Amino acid sequence: MGQDYTKKIEGKSYLVTEFANSLTKEQVVGLWEYMGRKYDFNVVQKASAKEMQYIAFALDAMGIQNKKKFMQSYTTTIGRTVYVPFVIGEGSLTQLRNQAATCVHEAQHVVQFDRDSIYFIKNYTTSQPARAHYEAEGYRCTMEMFYYLTGGKMLTATSLANMLAGYGVSESDIRVTRRHLHISSKVIRMGDIISNTSKTAIRWLNNHGFVGATVDFIK
Ligand SMILES: [Zn+2]
Repeated sequence: MGQDYTKKIEGKSYLVTEFANSLTKEQVVGLWEYMGRKYDFNVVQKASAKEMQYIAFALDAMGIQNKKKFMQSYTTTIGRTVYVPFVIGEGSLTQLRNQAATCVHEAQHVVQFDRDSIYFIKNYTTSQPARAHYEAEGYRCTMEMFYYLTGGKMLTATSLANMLAGYGVSESDIRVTRRHLHISSKVIRMGDIISNTSKTAIRWLNNHGFVGATVDFIK
């Protein structure tokens, strides 16, 4: 359950139980299963997928991304398949949080694929501003989930927007994304979750024993 730690307020020590720390392996595995059913996607280990090896080779050859980094650090969603570089439910608390947030980020890409169908793949691969826009939506989910999972901590807009450099996105599009995310962070800090994918995941976690940051829509 929760983890105890001591907090000092005006010189006095208080024992605090941080329930937001209690994310379990079962909750992370369960969340991925539930989101996969709800948004109709399947999960594949990236390392064992031949098509990912080809993409890694091509991205490396084009100078967009290092092959090893693409295979080991990035989750990639194509259509209804999510390629993960990690084993779901395994790792430290930080890794479990990342996996849960990644689940929602990738579910958002499936939603975009549903919404824009073939144009999603065309836009994503050929237009830098479109790719930045799609990723901004995904990063907002990442931000919302990180906030909820950590009991109120915020990822900075700059750190998330800078990740776009690894996707071959221009400086000006990174700047636009950073501003967009900066506004999102202000909204999230007030307890407002906008993305439906995040709401779905938060509702599920809430119903499965997880206690995260207080968010408005489930008060
Ligand atoms: Zn993404």
